[in-house]
Amino acid sequence: MVSSEYERRIADRFATFDQDGNGCIDREDFSGAAQALLTEFDVAARSDRGQALYGGAEAFWQGMAGIADRDGDQRISRAEFVTGAVKRLRDNPDRFAEIARPFLHAALAVADADGDGAVTVEEAARVLTVLGVPAATARPVAARLDADGDDRIGENDAVPAFARYFTVPE
Ligand code: CA
Ligand code: CA
Repeated sequence: MVSSEYERRIADRFATFDQDGNGCIDREDFSGAAQALLTEFDVAARSDRGQALYGGAEAFWQGMAGIADRDGDQRISRAEFVTGAVKRLRDNPDRFAEIARPFLHAALAVADADGDGAVTVEEAARVLTVLGVPAATARPVAARLDADGDDRIGENDAVPAFARYFTVPE
């Protein structure tokens, strides 16, 4: 049984996906998030890292639409998200990680200023903030990703944590 508290949390996640706040999730929300990340980290859209991020954003959108856009209008309404995506992602959190991974992989590469294959807690918090995670939450969430305290967060830490944040209550 899905609790109302759980559904409220998922409604908050809907607001995060709806980056432009127009009441539905669509392709522009994903490409807009990619653009915002490139701006935040001063990476050119035409660069390899920029193109990888746009490609990951499109794959993320296609995956979410495949799960949740039940009427096929290329938009995920609040109702489609809450009744479709929530249940299916909760039943299969690995699926969410799979569809989000190319985008997250590219986002980490954009945020990884020194190119050593991992981001710092501060860089991870900036990514989360750009993606609409409330500032008060972004920093502690990022800090928790760095479980061993070496200030290096790799893809294998970030992807499951991101999936947990977006699919289950904290
Ligand atoms: Ca939107
Ligand atoms: Ca729809």
